[in-house]
Amino acid sequence: MADEQQYDYDVLVIGAGPGGYVAAIRAAQLGLRTACAESRETLGGTCLNVGCIPSKAMLHASELYDHAANGAMAKLGIKTQVELDLETMHGQRRDAVKQLTGGIEYLFKKNKVTWLKGRAAFQDAHSVSVGDQRVTARNIVIATGSSVTALPGVTIDQQVVVDSTGALELPRVPEHMVVIGGGVIGLELGSVWRRLGAKVTCVEFLDQILPGFDGDIRKESNKIFKKQGIEFRLSTKVTNVAVEGGKAVLTLEPAQGGEATTLEADCVLVSIGRRPNTDGLNLEAAGLATNQRGQVEIDHDFRTKVDGIWAIGDVVPGPMLAHKAEDEGIAVAENIAGQHGIVNHDVIPSVVYTWPEIAGVGLTEEVARERGEVKVGKFPMMANSRAKTNHEPDGFVKVIADAKTDRVLGVWCIATVGGTMIAQAAQAMEFGATSEDIAYTCHAHPTHSEAIKEAAMAVTGKPIHI
Ligand code: FAD
Ligand code: NAD
Repeated sequence: MADEQQYDYDVLVIGAGPGGYVAAIRAAQLGLRTACAESRETLGGTCLNVGCIPSKAMLHASELYDHAANGAMAKLGIKTQVELDLETMHGQRRDAVKQLTGGIEYLFKKNKVTWLKGRAAFQDAHSVSVGDQRVTARNIVIATGSSVTALPGVTIDQQVVVDSTGALELPRVPEHMVVIGGGVIGLELGSVWRRLGAKVTCVEFLDQILPGFDGDIRKESNKIFKKQGIEFRLSTKVTNVAVEGGKAVLTLEPAQGGEATTLEADCVLVSIGRRPNTDGLNLEAAGLATNQRGQVEIDHDFRTKVDGIWAIGDVVPGPMLAHKAEDEGIAVAENIAGQHGIVNHDVIPSVVYTWPEIAGVGLTEEVARERGEVKVGKFPMMANSRAKTNHEPDGFVKVIADAKTDRVLGVWCIATVGGTMIAQAAQAMEFGATSEDIAYTCHAHPTHSEAIKEAAMAVTGKPIHI
């Protein structure tokens, strides 16, 4: 299409998840005529509708229930008689989703982003059909996100065999839930139903849970979850799930081969990862194809190989996280507007919102050691005055620094407020901090965050409280 051609929009974003809606709002803030196509009934994507937000609503409520039911509150002198009202718990989850998705609708109106309701498919590099409309745009941002990966041969009926969406909405507490996959979703949603009374067994193909996390953190998390009552079958794969009469029988095999065993459950959660959404997008019409992992490849500026088409979020390579998608949304809009949008992909924090929380940013100790000489400082939460006072002794903080320059390469922690604590580590790393910089930064007392300071002091062997 010739440059002088009039397009309907300067920017059309496909998908209104945290990547897409943020890109659309920033593009409009930068004065670009912007539309966003979304096939769901509500805005906010996986994150707001069936991901981050509803899972955190259930995690928060079930955590309070657990504290009341398991005696943790009684230890503080608070006597309770606990009764689960699951319908109300689901109600507050639905309410959180409604309010937040409605909030994005408000922000679209406020920023004059046009919401095109329907499924988008490319007609060519600058035209897209959305339902029965056809719209053109000078720039198109693919932000179509991801969906649950299916386990071959296993049917998700959302009754007995559920994915994360079904697991958020179970109408009753299962007696025995088997979670397939010891990743973030399995551990978060497994924890929800364990707290509410289910027996939970987690089957993980690898020899440890939480792939991608630091090795010490993986081992310690596994111990903590076991102590809480989750049973693990590591190095084990599920090869079949047969459902009859509301019950499932799973066939398990050792990952390295060997004799099969069976396991019965009344609920099976399939949480073995997510895959990029490109089905029906008609990428070929725009001159694009996906890579072997089904992702849309991009360069450092989020450009695809076709001029004017950009991509961000779960549909491109990298961690599938809402905050990564959001930051890419801002950067891509700024790049489209001729500015210099940058995301530092070396400093993307990860958080598992269990109790305690598990969080990290930067390199694991294993990867850091492969790359060069490192110094490591650790500090146990048991020695942190606030955690100890609050009866939250589990976990530790670990700071990994370059042995020569002392620059911080990674920070990992298990702590009840680890997700909040990790922000300071990310900011320090973004500013190129050394472990000494963190150690000499004044931290308020008494806070869990002092454990980060002490772990940084431990890098050079000088913590005060151990
Ligand atoms: P999405 O949020 O998937 O949004 C893409 C949108 O595009 C969808 O609404 C989809 O309907 C729409 N779409 C797709 N194709 C088309 C089309 N052809 N036309 C029109 N619209 C289309 N991440 C975190 O960082 N923290 C968490 O706590 C967290 N918790 C999670 C819990 C669960 C249970 C799940 C499943 C995920 C969680 N995630 C979490 C991951 C997070 O949800 C994703 O990383 C994030 O939503 C990705 O954003 P996105 O904008 O790339 O895509
Ligand atoms: P994941 O990749 O985190 O974990 C999947 C696990 O399943 C892995 O440990 C893998 O080894 C295991 N597995 C794969 N096939 C298996 C099999 N056949 N049998 C047994 N185990 C098997 O995936 P997820 O937990 O489904 O989460 C999907 C995505 O959503 C992740 O990328 C995650 O970042 C994102 N998410 C993030 C948060 C958060 O930030 N708190 C919460 C939920 C989801």
